Amino acid sequence: MQRILNKIKQYDTIIIHGHKRPDGDCYGAQFGLKNIITSSFPTKKVYVVGETSEFVDFIGKMDVITDDTYQGALSIVVDTAVSDRISDPRYALGQEIIKIDHHIPIDNYGDLRWVDTTFPSCAQMITYFYYKFRKELKLTLEGANALYTGIVTDTGRFRFRGVSKLTHQLAGLLIEKGVDVEYIDGELSQESLEMIALKGYVYSNFVTADGFVYIKMTRDVIEKYNVTDEQAASMVGLIGGIAGYPVWALIIEYPGEIRIRLRSSGPTIDKLANKYGGGGHAKASGCKLNNWEELPQFVSDIEQLIKVYKEEA
Ligand code: AMP
Repeated sequence: MQRILNKIKQYDTIIIHGHKRPDGDCYGAQFGLKNIITSSFPTKKVYVVGETSEFVDFIGKMDVITDDTYQGALSIVVDTAVSDRISDPRYALGQEIIKIDHHIPIDNYGDLRWVDTTFPSCAQMITYFYYKFRKELKLTLEGANALYTGIVTDTGRFRFRGVSKLTHQLAGLLIEKGVDVEYIDGELSQESLEMIALKGYVYSNFVTADGFVYIKMTRDVIEKYNVTDEQAASMVGLIGGIAGYPVWALIIEYPGEIRIRLRSSGPTIDKLANKYGGGGHAKASGCKLNNWEELPQFVSDIEQLIKVYKEEA
């Protein structure tokens, strides 16, 4: 952390990247870090770049920059385990690259890395970074709102494994900065009529296998319900927590790609996700299918994983 702070001090231009299809934690870490740097060192030029998210748009707007901006700049990539998931590959144009992440590492991109899987969100890492150097760093309400949003979204509102005393202490620090908990919850909880209708679809159409439940989100369903891909993908939580089904997944068809959002309350799933071109955490991973024909094999691999888990339990 000290070495990261030294690098931040050293560079005049800092460009903060996140991952493709960013979520609340990615935005929270990106915009939170930008706020800390700009508030503490007002003469530095700091940019946040990458794909956008409608869901957490209230946190901030992405900057649009030219390739020249990267000349002599420091790239910081947050919340991204593997280099091909970094949103906006121009991060590599930076003079030096720093990785800050809480996922199980898949590849070791970056000149300097701070990876700690004990943190339940990357936003908590950034908040901790601020806390550790609070005598010399500043954080305003705007940044605190971003970081708080990152912490609550990646912990399922303080419900997931990894939430600790430190998580609450750091969330408390952000509230001290003026975070309006009700405002953020309101922003995150708003739902359109289309989303409610899609929930009905998910509840009526999920498929069950041995200990595994999944829902297929094909292009025609996404179009029929008139929702964004991001909204469709957010349905994964709906089929979690069903008694007797410790693993669940939402399988979403993007143009040219089928992605699996895999979750578990039992067996560790990241190794299986590795086998299918992905990775992530022990209980929350993402991976891919090349086509729908691969689905039966995937389901059977999950069933086997659950069987072994039950036998060992
Ligand atoms: P998601 O279902 O997209 O929320 O992903 C769950 C977790 O797995 C997140 O922490 C992701 O960063 C990680 N993940 C998703 N897709 C991949 C992938 N292709 N490679 C590595 N990690 C991934």
